[in-house]
Amino acid sequence: MKTTRAPADIAREAIRLLAGRRLPPTPDNFRQVYHEVAGETPPAQAAQPGHVPDPAWADTVRGLLRQWDAHQSGLTRTRKQEMLERVLINFGQDHAQLRVKLEALVKSWAAGARHEPAEAPVPLSAGEMAAGAALEDAMDAGASADATVTDCRPLVQQLARNLDLLAQTCDARWPDVAARAGALASALDGRAQLEATHYEAWSALWRELLMRVEDDHELADGLKRLMGLLFLNIGELVGDEAWLAGQLAAMHNLMRGEVRPDMLLEAERGLRELAYRQGVLKGSLDEAKNTLKTLVATFIDRVGEMSRSADGYHARIGVYDQRIRQARDLGELGDVVGGLSADVGEFRDVLRREHAELLAARRQAEQAEQRVRELERELAEVSTLVREDQLTGALNRRGMDEAMARELARARRLGAPLTLALLDVDHFKRLNDRLGHQAGDQALRHLAGVVRGLLRPTDLLARYGGEEFLILLPNTHVDEGEQVLRRIQRELTRQFFLHDNERVLITFSAGVAELGEGEDEAALVARADAAMYRAKQAGRNRVERG
Ligand code: GH3
Ligand code: MG
Ligand code: MG
Repeated sequence: MKTTRAPADIAREAIRLLAGRRLPPTPDNFRQVYHEVAGETPPAQAAQPGHVPDPAWADTVRGLLRQWDAHQSGLTRTRKQEMLERVLINFGQDHAQLRVKLEALVKSWAAGARHEPAEAPVPLSAGEMAAGAALEDAMDAGASADATVTDCRPLVQQLARNLDLLAQTCDARWPDVAARAGALASALDGRAQLEATHYEAWSALWRELLMRVEDDHELADGLKRLMGLLFLNIGELVGDEAWLAGQLAAMHNLMRGEVRPDMLLEAERGLRELAYRQGVLKGSLDEAKNTLKTLVATFIDRVGEMSRSADGYHARIGVYDQRIRQARDLGELGDVVGGLSADVGEFRDVLRREHAELLAARRQAEQAEQRVRELERELAEVSTLVREDQLTGALNRRGMDEAMARELARARRLGAPLTLALLDVDHFKRLNDRLGHQAGDQALRHLAGVVRGLLRPTDLLARYGGEEFLILLPNTHVDEGEQVLRRIQRELTRQFFLHDNERVLITFSAGVAELGEGEDEAALVARADAAMYRAKQAGRNRVERG
């Protein structure tokens, strides 16, 4: 019966069997036992009749097994499997050679276990490089001892392919490095051995690349510090300009932690959208403010006109006053009074008219002021858009869509694996009902924090829905992805969510799926989703493969 176990597990079992049978792990023996464990070949074919087991092999295989199971910083199972396969392919024809190489490999893994890498500025971690260097040394020694046996063609060709990839990847950033990588790849094309000149060119290129990467790190750190200062400064300057608060908070958050390309892209997208919406609102706000200004100016003019009318009226009253004093008879006095009452009536009309105009102007000014206030409030609200995912700090759906498209394209270009996981909190409704919605929010924040703590800088976490999260693991096969999810589950049993001093256990069900050849994003998500559904059906708090 064919089993559905992970290849890494089958390989491990196969090595164990070889050790038990005291058989050297030649490619043939390994292949046969592997198939036997996987249930793909009749077990009768696995053992070679008449083969004399060499007892020294048992020690080699035991050592291999021990290091296979041990944890070496920077060395994943998949990576170890690749290294083991390389040795088996290259030295499998010669048992004595093979043992020397396998022992060198085991030694290099053991060295990786002792050397905790501080930081990995290049695609390979320090552990991998130490292991790789030890392996290469071992291979060099083997090659000079018996050059006819050693066929390095697969290794050299793999190096050429990697150089080609390097050339494509860094063409836009460092065209000169890309040209050197491309030239070396062409020089290696079809070769079975590395010449000294190739080795020198490769070493020089590698050193150059390390220096560029270091420079880039320094550049990014410097920019980050500068931006942090700038935002601190702007924050002090803008004071109560509420509509800028969202941008400033988002940028400040971004600069505080580790800055990853996906976070920058997300912040850029948010700010771009915000700038557009605020631009539209600011236009309306400026218009409303101008209207208000015009209205206030009209208001002042009216008041001025009124006082001018009143001044004229006072002057005329003064004239009447004089004429009354000087009136010699009643007839003259009658004329003065007639003129006075006509003037008073006219003045009253002017006052009434101007009063009505003033009231209308005041109403318009109040409306305009109201509109300004509304627009300012809207502007401040839009500013919070950029904090959309402040609850968990994870990418939102749109951010994730962009990141997915980018990662899928990259996985295809580099021929690298890509694993996606969907997880859904178990019985979250119950937690909400028992502890309240706010506690539910905090639980989601806690979960996102725990997940982020276990992911690599290149992995992505997105909030897919209410209590559903999506994790994207670039350069990761499904078995490793499954392990990552299980690690998160274990961590949640250590880091409890604390609510009013109550330790609340959060569990989730998850589905993981690795991107298949020619598969699109929707199909990949659907497979992970179906697997997650199976995990729920099977009783929750588990991880299923899609
Ligand atoms: P299951 O194990 O089957 O997934 O059960 P469940 O209760 O988690 O699933 P269901 O989909 O029935 O309920 C999900 C709940 O999550 C319902 C909704 O009120 C709650 N929820 C969704 N988004 C949020 C949020 O942002 N905050 C809080 N506190 N609750 C949320
Ligand atoms: Mg759900
Ligand atoms: Mg749920």
